Amino acid sequence: MKKLFKITVGIALLLSLQNIYAGPYVILVSFDGFRWDYLNRRITPTLLDISTKGTRALSLRPSFPSKTFPNHYSIVTGMYPENHGIIANNFIDPQTGERYNISDTVSKWDEKWYMGEAFWETAEKNGLKSASIFWPGSEIRGAGKHPEYFKYYNSRMPYTDRIDTLLAWLTLPSSNRPHFLSLYFEYTDTYGHRFGPNSSEVNEAIRKSDSAAAYLVKRLTEISMIDSVDLIIVSDHGMTETSPERIINVEEILEGYNCDLYDSGPVMRVHPSAGDVKKVYEHLKGNASHFKVYTKDNIPSFYHYSKGLLTPPITVIADPGWSLLDNKGIDRSAKYFSGGNHGYEKDFLDMNGIFIASGPSFKSCYQTGTLWNIDIYPLLAKLFDIKPNKNIDGNLERIEFILKGR
Ligand code: AMP
Ligand code: ZN
Ligand code: ZN
Repeated sequence: MKKLFKITVGIALLLSLQNIYAGPYVILVSFDGFRWDYLNRRITPTLLDISTKGTRALSLRPSFPSKTFPNHYSIVTGMYPENHGIIANNFIDPQTGERYNISDTVSKWDEKWYMGEAFWETAEKNGLKSASIFWPGSEIRGAGKHPEYFKYYNSRMPYTDRIDTLLAWLTLPSSNRPHFLSLYFEYTDTYGHRFGPNSSEVNEAIRKSDSAAAYLVKRLTEISMIDSVDLIIVSDHGMTETSPERIINVEEILEGYNCDLYDSGPVMRVHPSAGDVKKVYEHLKGNASHFKVYTKDNIPSFYHYSKGLLTPPITVIADPGWSLLDNKGIDRSAKYFSGGNHGYEKDFLDMNGIFIASGPSFKSCYQTGTLWNIDIYPLLAKLFDIKPNKNIDGNLERIEFILKGR
């Protein structure tokens, strides 16, 4: 017993002398738009195997709007979009008129839009290194705003290359090795938009995602880390079927009113000229068929969408499966609104994603109900035993029961 104690103290001393962190390794994986029930289609043997060995939630509740950048940033910051600032994939700052757009690298990389503290920032403050392959929000410029190791987004990079790059970082000498790693795949979202969630093409994308998971497991096994890594597999939101038969031309409804309209699909943001907000709101409300309309002041608190300075004066939210558009969108409606979409309110079950966690820290063979994506950030802090940023919306108490020994 004495000898064992001496060896343990010796190892700890050696690690601390070399400044090597002896804590866990965590890999956070996202399959974009992987709806919660895709796991029930009997085409994901690897994901089911991982979930059986570990913990699986019924679903993962996204934050509103259930879009890619707002939710990936909610997952790594523990904040609702109204607080972390990324309120959509593209939006305008009503005070300055400046635009944010995920397709424009100038704004996408500009740290001024990102008001949360991503977990890789928290980790770095605590002396931990991080790495990411394409996690939305991992390319932000500015000291500490991005993980130490990252790559600029390239949707054409094959999944094997993404995983090999991540694994190369994971096999660096221990003093340089990242402990928090994140990984992103977009297949299920891309095909979900084009063909709808019930298509054979989406099933192919689900199979491809499962193959990516299988390749990750294979590579982790090869480097003998499969039993020491905590794997958390999530998606940012789900997907629902849309149709050119279920479209609403908001510009037509607002004919004669002077307004700027932003975005299309499940959510549209309306910026009327100064002084016209009430008038425009009342008009939209009077014509609200298959959509809901709110001002910044009366949007219900469960959306968590009213506090931020970027919240638009008026938000229009389509009923599930319906799409909002403007006059230009009408011509493109057959192409853009015939597959699937997401962005709708977070309690619409089709918008829910997946949550699977497996590894030394998680309960085995355990199933639970729906978890919330804002709670993943405090869970990560708990795994690494570091202090989370205190300005978060997430709550460890809602999720920590999935940890072993709880
Ligand atoms: P959406 O479905 O509109 O919410 O966004 C999904 C799209 O975001 C996917 O088609 C991805 O290709 C794209 N995407 C994911 N990560 C990035 C990134 N880092 N930069 C730009 N686009 C991205
Ligand atoms: Zn997405
Ligand atoms: Zn999408």
